[in-house]
Amino acid sequence: MCGVDQFEIKMIERSFNRVVIDTSALEDNFRFIQQKAGAATPVMAMVKADGYGHGMIQAAAAFSRAGCVNFGVAELAEGVLLRQKGIKGQIYITIGFSPSAAAAILDYDLIPVVYDISQVEALATTALDRGVEVGVHLKVDTGMSRLGISVAEVFDFVNRIDATKGVFLAGVMSHVPESDDTRASSTNEAIAKFTFICKELKRSSGAICHIANSGAVINFPDACYDMVRAGIALYGYHPAGQDELSKHPDGALIPAMSFRTQVLQVKHLSANQGISYGHTYKTEKESIIAVLPVGYEDGFSRGLSNRGVVLVRGQKVPIRGRVCMNMTMVDVTEIEGVTAGEEVVLMGTQNSCRIDADTIAGLVNSISYEILCMIGNNNSREYIKAVDPGTD
Ligand SMILES: *Cc1c(COP(=O)(O)O)cnc(C)c1O
Repeated sequence: MCGVDQFEIKMIERSFNRVVIDTSALEDNFRFIQQKAGAATPVMAMVKADGYGHGMIQAAAAFSRAGCVNFGVAELAEGVLLRQKGIKGQIYITIGFSPSAAAAILDYDLIPVVYDISQVEALATTALDRGVEVGVHLKVDTGMSRLGISVAEVFDFVNRIDATKGVFLAGVMSHVPESDDTRASSTNEAIAKFTFICKELKRSSGAICHIANSGAVINFPDACYDMVRAGIALYGYHPAGQDELSKHPDGALIPAMSFRTQVLQVKHLSANQGISYGHTYKTEKESIIAVLPVGYEDGFSRGLSNRGVVLVRGQKVPIRGRVCMNMTMVDVTEIEGVTAGEEVVLMGTQNSCRIDADTIAGLVNSISYEILCMIGNNNSREYIKAVDPGTD
């Protein structure tokens, strides 16, 4: 963009590529997950990673409209931005903050997650200076082997919090590694450990307990405790992917993001013509190829080379050759009369045919989460409110 005003570019010509976010789908998904968790159990909407590629502020605003008052982000800077943009309610900083940034937690009325005593001490110093008390949520590792203190350290750590003026234990949280799989035993093991901790702590404090992500809300109702933290489900995807989605009653989740482009040029090739870098595809017969102005720069993975499909006139057509930085070729031989300028759907629905993030993820050895982040965060986004929530 180098010094060129974004607005000026918009006036000249918008990108050929459009990421469209259906905000009513975000609202509906929130209501659906709230209903799953139960009316008495608050749902924290995870809006980290720029709202899983959907735009952090717009996603948070949509969840707010659906009744959400708890938001989760990874880092402090994200929490500050949510506040600056006027998001109300509780904002949790789930991967922590450096002790030197403790003042910002108070300045912006954010809820800190802690796992190191230096964080507690820094918060306490700032809180005492200001004559206030800060509630902290303690992160415990119940089997993920990621962030958090071990189960064995919990009660000592809590004693240190209790002994520190200016801070108090407001919550205990953990995270589970396999809640998308109902057969895995690790979730029940984590629930057992977490239940033990929560029972003990609730005797002496008003701390709330939360461990469930989307998979746990859907598959392990016992894991809901006092609050759940949902991410991917709010954006319309089942954590275990598409196959799971189709056999689940939770098919009610509505993917909120679609990705559209248009045909740039149509060309007629004779048989045995190589296409794109490396000539990894050669036409088998006379073929009609549409050139699309989308590539890996736009989050359209190079892994889709010779594997992916896109929708033209409601039909799936194959990608031929390598996906380039800004362009991709698809085979439209079987479709009558395709012309430059017509719509192509890369992810989303066209007529009644659909490609979703799970389809793409399956082809590039990834998960819907990463596909949404790659596409959403690489393109300008448009927000719509679908008239019929069943379509995008
Ligand atoms: C991202 C995240 C979640 C949400 O996980 P999903 O699988 O997207 O529902 C929950 N808790 C924490 C701490 C997270 O970082």
